[in-house]
Amino acid sequence: MPKKENKMKVKKTEVKKPVKAVKEKAGKEKDASAERGKRSYNLLRGMHDILPKDEKYWRPMYDSAQGLASHFQFGRLETPVLEEQGLFVRAVGKGTDVVDKEMYAFEDKDGTKVAMRPELTAAAVRAYIMHGMWNMPQPIKLWYWGSMFRHDRPQAGRYRQFHQVGFEIFGQADSAADAELILMSYDFFKDLGLPVEVKINSIGTPTERANYRNELVNYYRSKRSYLCEECRNRLVKNPMRLLDCKEDRCQPVKEEAPQIINWLGADSKNHFMKVLEYLDELGIPYQLDNTLVRGLNYYTHTVFEFYVTDTQTGQQSALGGGGRYDLLVEEMGGRPTPAVGVALGLERTVLALKQFNEKNNREMPKLPTDAFIAQLGDEARRVTMKLVDQLRNTDVKIAFNFFKTSLKNQLELADSLKAPFAVIIGQKEVQDGTVIIRDMESGIQEIVDQKKLVTVLKRKLGKFDDKR
Ligand code: AMP
Repeated sequence: MPKKENKMKVKKTEVKKPVKAVKEKAGKEKDASAERGKRSYNLLRGMHDILPKDEKYWRPMYDSAQGLASHFQFGRLETPVLEEQGLFVRAVGKGTDVVDKEMYAFEDKDGTKVAMRPELTAAAVRAYIMHGMWNMPQPIKLWYWGSMFRHDRPQAGRYRQFHQVGFEIFGQADSAADAELILMSYDFFKDLGLPVEVKINSIGTPTERANYRNELVNYYRSKRSYLCEECRNRLVKNPMRLLDCKEDRCQPVKEEAPQIINWLGADSKNHFMKVLEYLDELGIPYQLDNTLVRGLNYYTHTVFEFYVTDTQTGQQSALGGGGRYDLLVEEMGGRPTPAVGVALGLERTVLALKQFNEKNNREMPKLPTDAFIAQLGDEARRVTMKLVDQLRNTDVKIAFNFFKTSLKNQLELADSLKAPFAVIIGQKEVQDGTVIIRDMESGIQEIVDQKKLVTVLKRKLGKFDDKR
């Protein structure tokens, strides 16, 4: 018995001492850092970091967007984050959530009313007019990639700073332009391995819409007592958004609501039908959705949104959307210019990809490594660094780790990266000006002149020079 007691005592004191000591130390450090006026910082609400672990999503998105832009001949547009507040108020419109509730708007030090861009179409229109692009051969095709800011209620896939990639076509009224943008967006998601479908609608011309709006208001007024609080507000402020309501109690009213398609004139119907014919021809899956109106006021005719094809999860948020805005350029002080655009939300796409991959046991494809360069000793490391730099602009994808010293470790790395070849440089190779090329599968090694490394590797990899 006494023995046991003794043992326990020892244990207790052993455990207690260090914890106490650690706590005291941490406390002292805290006091000391507080004295130095230091504290650690967190992110602002609704903001997020994009870390290297997510590069496997962001890089393919950028590569796809850039590839599409170059293939479909869009020029890159970069505009400032800060613009005059009035630009967005006028383009996006009063009564929209984006302008009324979510815009980061403030007075600059000189009293100018500025806003951090909540979207980029308004700025693209400003740039189109300001830089006289209407004077150039039409259509003008622009694309952008950047941060947008909306003081939204943060939740999964909804941030206060988020990224969009967008494509805009100015000076083309034909349905082919609408179809081109839907095709590009569809291809963007296809490149990432994400199956999507399009929801599409036409909201016609402002006159057609105004007539429809009256009918809608009359109908909703008669059902006022069944509506949610927000919809009662919408009825006064922005009736088209009534169709956007997701509240359960409003759904029966929404289902019976008049449909805009019945208010469209022949031209609007014709334009819309032609867009659908293109989509049929291209094999792009779409759903006609007569409640789709989009949240920004500048749209006319075609509007569309992209959703992950997934019948199981039901209600989801859009990955992106767009539409025609045939009157906006003129409203913003330019010449009458038909236009159409799309913006795809990148955080939402990453989230959808992660969910899709998890469900389907899928991983993002890794960039293949052609060869791993392993080095032994300081001199070899210097030569390797030079070789790595020389290989930068060739189409041989090289991997290396200057900080691992044992050959075994480096070959294990080469193995984990599935590099078909290892290039080994030791003391002897440095002196001879050679390298060893090792076939990772067969283990067969070959000594090659350093100067011929690229040529030999390319031949082995089946990547031939044009001059061959
Ligand atoms: P919108 O033009 O407002 O429909 O925005 C286009 C796309 O941007 C949406 O479909 C979303 O993917 C994305 N998006 C909009 N607002 C946010 C937000 N607060 N956080 C993250 N993504 C957003």
